[in-house]
Amino acid sequence: LPKRFEGSEPSVWVEYIQLALDYKPLNLGQGFPDYPPPKYVTDALTEVASNRNLHQYTRGFGHPRLVQALSKLYSKLIGREINPQTEVLTTLGAYEALFSTITGHIDDGDEVIIIEPFFDCYEPMVKYAGGVPRYIALKPKNTNKSVLSSADFVLDRDELEKLFNPKTKAIILNTPNNPLGKVFTRDELTHIADLCKKHNVLCISDEVYEWMVYKPHEHIRIATLPGMWERTITIGSAGKTFSVTGWKLGWAYGPANLLFNLQMIHQNSVYTGCTPIQEAAAIGFETELARLGTDECYFVSISKELEPKKEFMAKFLQEAGMKPIVPEGGYFMLADWTPLESKLNLSSEKDKYKDYRFTKWMTKNVGLQGIPPTAFYSEEHKPLGENFVRYCFIKQDKNLQAAADLLRNWK
Ligand code: PMP
Ligand code: GLN
Repeated sequence: LPKRFEGSEPSVWVEYIQLALDYKPLNLGQGFPDYPPPKYVTDALTEVASNRNLHQYTRGFGHPRLVQALSKLYSKLIGREINPQTEVLTTLGAYEALFSTITGHIDDGDEVIIIEPFFDCYEPMVKYAGGVPRYIALKPKNTNKSVLSSADFVLDRDELEKLFNPKTKAIILNTPNNPLGKVFTRDELTHIADLCKKHNVLCISDEVYEWMVYKPHEHIRIATLPGMWERTITIGSAGKTFSVTGWKLGWAYGPANLLFNLQMIHQNSVYTGCTPIQEAAAIGFETELARLGTDECYFVSISKELEPKKEFMAKFLQEAGMKPIVPEGGYFMLADWTPLESKLNLSSEKDKYKDYRFTKWMTKNVGLQGIPPTAFYSEEHKPLGENFVRYCFIKQDKNLQAAADLLRNWK
């Protein structure tokens, strides 16, 4: 590998998707629904596929109908007019939006603050750009509660303030957070925003789970806080928004001067996204815009659909002896598996971190797959994730029941 990519290793996804193919466990690992997306979404793609005029290249920075729909939606949500031509970019998944944002803004030696646990690709992307990641972990307070919530995990404000310095170029925020499920409160976001303004720092806000938030928690877009639009790039994903992870369509929005940098990276690497997928997503957004905030709106109903799944998972993990951290948003749950240590024989697994040994052993011996959370921590903080496993609960009830049965019947 060229020097700037040195140290790259296959990610947890590469390894665990192969593990699932090899052992065929009940898969609560990678985050995707194991049931069909809403019918109007697949109908839109069917309709688009049969339109013979929608199969050639489209506008590079985003298919016109889709950037229109995105600008309409986010203008409403952010409370300002978002220009569809200059303030929105569509990408190949949120991954490409993250990549274009990071490579488009980070220079050699720039420091980037990353909040742990973090979606794993942030770290290599920052390093590829020549940046220096600086980590700060969310840590639990009130640990004597019988069931922890992701809200119990907070940043130490002094520690965060100390990380900001003249080299700090950006902070990456992910709310709702993957894998913890934390939804940052207005107060927490205001503290981060104030530091960004004080130190003239860019905020990269990964909000792919913006529509999966459990009552009474509320998703707050940091770009709506005073003085933050000017310094925030917000990232979304059709995969999460419409439960179509295989579409690999994402977007970024923010002020034109910041978006320009992303457009250049996108133009010179990918150039343009898939036309029919973007047209179908545009139809999806137009449908939701017409019923925004009503019970029929998928952006409302998705959380209601997930709520009982989340409750059921928290219950069966507890019954199995694990200690779940109940998420406020997203569709993942972390659980402390170490109370089960006496039932395990992890010596057959050779990985360095015991959450890797636990998740591999469980896949092979119990037939249940989760993701090892140390993948979401920097080298130095990996011990913070070792006692946990991440399970995904956007799964059919019968499969969640099957997971509960596997745990109950495991001797
Ligand atoms: N950010 C987070 C926090 C995610 O969980 C994911 C999951 N895929 C992504 C970005 C990437 O999304 P996409 O599949 O649209 O590339
Ligand atoms: N975001 C999903 C997860 O965290 C998918 C990850 C991926 O495809 N790399 O499981």
